[in-house]
Amino acid sequence: MRIQLVRRGTNLDRVGGFNDAVVLDAIRRSEQLSRVELAEATGLSGQAISNIVRRLLDAGLVREAGRLRGAGLGKPRTLLELEPTGQYAVGVHLDPSVVTVVLLDLTGEVVARRPVDQYADDPGLLIDGIAKTIEEVIAASGAPRDRVTGVGIAAPGPIDVERGVVVDPPNLSTWHLVPLRDELSARTGLPIVLDKDVTAAASAEKWAGQGGSFVFFYLGTGVGAGLVIGDEVVRGSSSNVGEIGHVIVDPDGPLCYCGRRGCVGEASQPRYLVEQAVRAGVLAEGIDLDDRLAVEAAFASMCAQAGGPGAARDILTTLADRIAKVVEDIANLLDLERVVFGGPHWEQLAPVLHDRVRTALEGRFLLAAVHPFEVTGTSLGADVGAIGAASLILDRMFSPNPSLVPELAAER
Ligand SMILES: [Zn+2]
Repeated sequence: MRIQLVRRGTNLDRVGGFNDAVVLDAIRRSEQLSRVELAEATGLSGQAISNIVRRLLDAGLVREAGRLRGAGLGKPRTLLELEPTGQYAVGVHLDPSVVTVVLLDLTGEVVARRPVDQYADDPGLLIDGIAKTIEEVIAASGAPRDRVTGVGIAAPGPIDVERGVVVDPPNLSTWHLVPLRDELSARTGLPIVLDKDVTAAASAEKWAGQGGSFVFFYLGTGVGAGLVIGDEVVRGSSSNVGEIGHVIVDPDGPLCYCGRRGCVGEASQPRYLVEQAVRAGVLAEGIDLDDRLAVEAAFASMCAQAGGPGAARDILTTLADRIAKVVEDIANLLDLERVVFGGPHWEQLAPVLHDRVRTALEGRFLLAAVHPFEVTGTSLGADVGAIGAASLILDRMFSPNPSLVPELAAER
């Protein structure tokens, strides 16, 4: 069962912005609410709710959605819901293999998406491409440009959140201390928020309704863990939480760029799995392991063969056991109730990994006696990073300090 926590408002006038966000958040969580229910949910007075709802209606952030006739003789209650076109947020997922841009409406629905066409190693050219794609996505959606609140970027770690800098992402060898936030802000004129890819993905899951305490296990170019504990996204002391890629799961495994052998990030890469499959005779020899597209095609073939028994399945089963051990340690350390898998490689690995990880964790999990531990895959597909990046912007609209919402800021 998921408990949706509704924030309580305060009846002091001087914190109007806080209350606006509280009311907006209560409407979002319940989808539709009447003014009376809003007062009950938030603890605000009927008069305060009336004023706030008027402001939100005028700002175009909520709309009336029909009437609800109660059991008594009182007058019917007007239901309120979010106005999807009230605000929009852009999400950018910077992945070493593909950069994706999405536009979300106020309810968190994806209204447009597009990959960045020209993938350039040069940071400046790539940022140009991202800025151009952002404008294309906004234009394709038909959203008025002035209703776009900001851009969230999900980037591989490590990142320097305070300065908006991508420090040294793996597999982007030309990227070193790139001031992505300011560069993109200069090109788009929009407020930009930078966060880690795994943290953005965890935020997206939270938005999609995953509550409680869970780890988002990201399988992409490297692996990482996003954390939500007690309904809150956890960022750590420098927003670089979740660097689990160098946990050693196989001391005789592949050499990692960190200099050691058998790190879980390296052991999960298609390149290494394909190499093993060739050695086991599952795939024909002669695959160029430095050719990303060739490796992807071979990886797809291997995953398809893993549907039945044989060496391909054994390779992925071994991988699942290794990942299960890492998940088990994170879950035990933090007393979690769920792992959500996702990232670019998840969909292909899921048919084997999902059940095998669940089986591996059954009985081994320390807390099995206290509460169950759930193994799930993301419901948001391969765009989870980009959706999460946009949700970082939307999150601010529904948080107590919605300084990114001009309409609300102006009211104060
Ligand atoms: Zn390593």
